[in-house]
Amino acid sequence: MTESSKHVTHWIGGKPWDGTAERQGDIYDPATGQVTGHVDFASPAEVDAAVDAARTAFQSWKNVSLSKRAAILFKFRELVHSHVADLAALITAEHGKVASDAAGEVARGLEVVEFACGIPHLLKGGFSENVSTGVDSYSIRQPLGVVAGITPFNFPAMVPMWMFPIAIACGNTFVLKPSEKDPSASLLIAQLWAEAGLPEGVFNVLQGDKVAVDGLLHHPDVAAVSFVGSTPIARYVYEQGTQAGKRVQALGGAKNHMVVLPDADLDLAADAAVSAGFGSAGERCMAISALVAVEPVGDELIEKIKTRIAKLRVGPGTDERAEMGPLVTGAHRDKVASYLDSGVREGATLAVDGRAHPIIGGESAGFWLGPSVLDHVAPGNSAYDDEIFGPVLSVARTDSYEEAVEMVNNSQYGNGTAVFTNDGGAARRFVNEIQVGMVGVNVPIPVPMAFYSFGGWKNSLFGDTHVHGTEGVHFYTRGKVVTSRWLDPSHGGVNLGFPTNA
Ligand code: NAD
Repeated sequence: MTESSKHVTHWIGGKPWDGTAERQGDIYDPATGQVTGHVDFASPAEVDAAVDAARTAFQSWKNVSLSKRAAILFKFRELVHSHVADLAALITAEHGKVASDAAGEVARGLEVVEFACGIPHLLKGGFSENVSTGVDSYSIRQPLGVVAGITPFNFPAMVPMWMFPIAIACGNTFVLKPSEKDPSASLLIAQLWAEAGLPEGVFNVLQGDKVAVDGLLHHPDVAAVSFVGSTPIARYVYEQGTQAGKRVQALGGAKNHMVVLPDADLDLAADAAVSAGFGSAGERCMAISALVAVEPVGDELIEKIKTRIAKLRVGPGTDERAEMGPLVTGAHRDKVASYLDSGVREGATLAVDGRAHPIIGGESAGFWLGPSVLDHVAPGNSAYDDEIFGPVLSVARTDSYEEAVEMVNNSQYGNGTAVFTNDGGAARRFVNEIQVGMVGVNVPIPVPMAFYSFGGWKNSLFGDTHVHGTEGVHFYTRGKVVTSRWLDPSHGGVNLGFPTNA
């Protein structure tokens, strides 16, 4: 099969779908700008087929022993581990990120699989003997049924892996609707599950767009939906899903501020701002997109950032020299670049223009945009207010710590933030005062490990539960408390009073 004939379809009931799609989407190689294949878009009939397969599989999967589930997860972990390079290659070919970054996202996803391998421990309930004499109480957590995961383009392996290892380990069956922009990784993941011995129908993949999403949101047999993507769609998914009676966690967009206090190590801060601002071309929900310099350090910090940016190597993700790849689509590249002009129109100065950055080894039709810095950005400038989701770092200056904190707390988003300082007391105060879900102290991208939970505040998350960690286990299960009495001959008799332990 030639690369240009790549065809990506659904995975339903343990095998690739063999039907003919009514609609398809193009898959691009962002480094060349060329169409490399097509992805089937699900119609309502395929949504039904995937959910039916998952519903049927649930009847037996929910009763598979915890040790057997853990054994399959261990096997899956080994298979993914031995296919990291293959998954990374698929991601680079469709997303554009450099190979080491793509491998890094698989590694972070694997940490969730490793966490889920501990499911026998994670699902332990509580037991109380003699809540009343001769009466015992215990709590258990049971799976929900069919759960769906709807995921964004920017982490085609890691974000789905935030969800399905725990959902499946808890005894649910899963329907994944990955981004239509980079759908191939999901199919390799499905194959690896099958090879690991996961029964057919426990993990399904539905390719497509809004039709597939709406179908899942309104399907009566889907019990819960995990969503990660932009804020408007997260809000939509949360509202539609909860209205249809489902449990929903919907993670949205972000504007992550890095606050640099005057006493900070400015070399460390500049390294961090460049790494966290331009890694994966800024297409990370935890990317630093707003740098808040508490004066008088602004000018010096900008100079240090400029020096570092000049050395960044931008090129195809497959080129080992490249540190930053192209953007995901031409339309997205143009939208991101438009903020350089509108930002200046609305009062900023263009300190670094990424449109002039050299591209090494890239084809001109690729979706290129080098790292850019807009200085003197302030609230009210759309480059500050909007989530740009590209390699544009907006720098704001404030005169005090208090002003910086106010700026962060006034943002509609609350995903990640970081403070750079050498003052432990200031850092502690920042952690206490900041209204953001994930906070770094001299750490620019504070993504929690798998055994903690990932999620933001405000318009960065709709719902109550963050993903993975113990909150993930909680999201994919529902509690039951049992009160039991095994009669002994001394008990019994009619009692119309409310049960108390008196
Ligand atoms: P997106 O919202 O466009 O798409 C996400 C998913 O929703 C995809 O599967 C897509 O097919 C589907 N979708 C798109 N439009 C839809 C519609 N109108 N109705 C129903 N479904 C629709 O997001 P994206 O561009 O793929 O990803 C980038 C966004 O994701 C950024 O905003 C980023 O901040 C966010 N993100 C957030 C987190 C987080 O943890 N908070 C993590 C990664 C990405």
